[in-house]
Amino acid sequence: MKRWLKSSLAFLFLSLLLLGGVTVHAITQAQDYGRLINYVGIVRGATQRLVKLELVGQPNDELIIYLDSILDELNGTAGEFGLPCPNDANYQEDLHDLTQMWDNLKGHIAAYRENTEDSAPLVMLSEAYFMQANNTVFCAEAYTVHQNHMLLLFCLVMLAVMLLTWAFIFWAASRKILRLEDTNQKLNDLTQRDPLTGVYQIKAFKEQAQRLINSHPEYKFAVLHTDFSDFKYINDVFGYDYGDSILSHYGALLRDGLSKHELAGRVSADNFVLLLRYEDRKELVLRQRSTDEKITEFMSRSHDRQSLTTCCGICCIEDVIESLEIGGYLDRANFARKTVKTGSRQNYVFYDDSIRHRLWEQKSIERRMYDALDRREFTVYYQPKVKLETGRAASAEALVRWRSDDGAIIPPDRFIPVFEQKLMIDRLDRYVMDDVCRWLRSRLDAKLPVLPVSVNVSRLQFYDVGFVDRYVEIRDKYHIPPELLELEFTESIAFENTEVLLSTIQALKAAGFACAIDDFGKGYSSLSLLKQLPVDVLKIDSLFFTDSGDCKRDNVIVAGIIDMVHKFGIRTVAEGIEHPDQVNYLKQIGCDYVQGYVFYRPLPQADFEKLLDSGN
Ligand code: C2E
Ligand code: CA
Ligand code: CA
Repeated sequence: MKRWLKSSLAFLFLSLLLLGGVTVHAITQAQDYGRLINYVGIVRGATQRLVKLELVGQPNDELIIYLDSILDELNGTAGEFGLPCPNDANYQEDLHDLTQMWDNLKGHIAAYRENTEDSAPLVMLSEAYFMQANNTVFCAEAYTVHQNHMLLLFCLVMLAVMLLTWAFIFWAASRKILRLEDTNQKLNDLTQRDPLTGVYQIKAFKEQAQRLINSHPEYKFAVLHTDFSDFKYINDVFGYDYGDSILSHYGALLRDGLSKHELAGRVSADNFVLLLRYEDRKELVLRQRSTDEKITEFMSRSHDRQSLTTCCGICCIEDVIESLEIGGYLDRANFARKTVKTGSRQNYVFYDDSIRHRLWEQKSIERRMYDALDRREFTVYYQPKVKLETGRAASAEALVRWRSDDGAIIPPDRFIPVFEQKLMIDRLDRYVMDDVCRWLRSRLDAKLPVLPVSVNVSRLQFYDVGFVDRYVEIRDKYHIPPELLELEFTESIAFENTEVLLSTIQALKAAGFACAIDDFGKGYSSLSLLKQLPVDVLKIDSLFFTDSGDCKRDNVIVAGIIDMVHKFGIRTVAEGIEHPDQVNYLKQIGCDYVQGYVFYRPLPQADFEKLLDSGN
């Protein structure tokens, strides 16, 4: 307990004792003074009676002795009546006069008894004595009242001091309790925060956000989900410490940007969520963009002008028709975020009708995907790759399509992410592999021309130990010569876990499969890693050949990539080529193959067969 609290309590205790003592004293004093007034009154009355008895010839010496003893005690001599002796000048003066008059009166009584004097002086003195005794009573009374008032005043002051002390203790203790509560709340708050970024952990964020939404129906709230594109690149290239410093700085920026009744949280690595209030939805983008610009600035200041982009999905709660909990709004904001296209300038996407439709579509895919595999609703298209040296199709890529029960063809970017999310992609990939092998076998059996076919393999399959064996099993089931098959996997798997990647590619190569790295340049690209990987083909992503970028710079990069990988013995395929000019340039810089609409779109199997049969 603090010292001040101890002292206050001790003071309060002593005051209480004092007040108790004073009260007892006041009561006994009141009794004593009551008795004093009473006895002065007795002196007054008894003297009158004594004179009367003298005048009727009945002298009473006992009464004289009794009055003597009272007056002695009133004058301060100890006696049997327990009378106080007030230290008051007026009273003492009156008492002194009264005592003198009594001595005088006793002299006249004696003279009257001896008949040396008649009754007249005695009666006169008795009258005067009565008046003096009366004055003395009043004086004693006045003194008593004064004393009682003083005591009362003292008690009141004591009471006031005690009340003030109580009030002080109460105020100080409640302040202390409030402070403790505050500290407790702060500690509690700290445990709910992510130590690296200082924003709420997702569980706490959800709880608090739900509470705010429920308790403030008057506000317009929006949920934002932000993400850095390719944050892994930062960690891999610049190290985890630098990655952490970016996240911690970003957390601080998000926190600084919050107003009252707003929250920030971290979902995982580089994924953050926000609950913001707004009047006009444009504010949301402006605010988030300003934070994102600050972090980009921080990154470019820190490391050789390097920077990452962020993408953000925004779900305004008023835009959601269904009544949802916070988890539902977060899902929608996240869904909107995922629609941000790589390399797009539009990094802030609102959840709206079209996204609602896509979400609905995703749910519908989820519902139908299991049956669709059993009902063999998937079909394979083939997109030829043209060898630039000869200008003829030299191989093809197998691209899956979903022919839904209403006859519509659903493109793979609509359903592949759902298959990946639901961990069904391995079944779909094997389905395609099986379909391709069966088709090749039918062509080979019929002695019809064929071309090598590449099959896409989802990155998720790389973490499955039995993956290589299963692909060998399918190939062997149809006795397909290994040189007719190639496997494509995206660059992102390529660099997530180098060891797994290396051992898998080695196993695939040992099993006789040609291997291609797909979408090179879409994520972050490490040419030096290619040196270690025994891959056969590098597919350069269409991003380098779109009109939106800096064409000259892209051309230089592509020329550099091709030159470099040729030195490692890797062949190159340029993807997404739509213009003949690009073909000429690619030819000039030594690119081996082109896959793009400029030559062929993905063809249904029958059309591809026609192409092969026509002698290409
Ligand atoms: P990808 O492996 O990069 O396939 C190339 C995509 O580029 C194909 O889209 C193709 O139609 C498209 N494309 C080719 N040339 C051009 C062009 O000149 N211009 C434009 N704009 N596009 C061109 P598609 O068939 O829609 O496939 C999209 C993605 O779906 C594929 O990208 C691949 O990642 C994935 N995918 C397709 N089939 C499978 C599969 O069987 N398994 C797995 N795991 N993924 C698949
Ligand atoms: Ca591919
Ligand atoms: Ca590709």
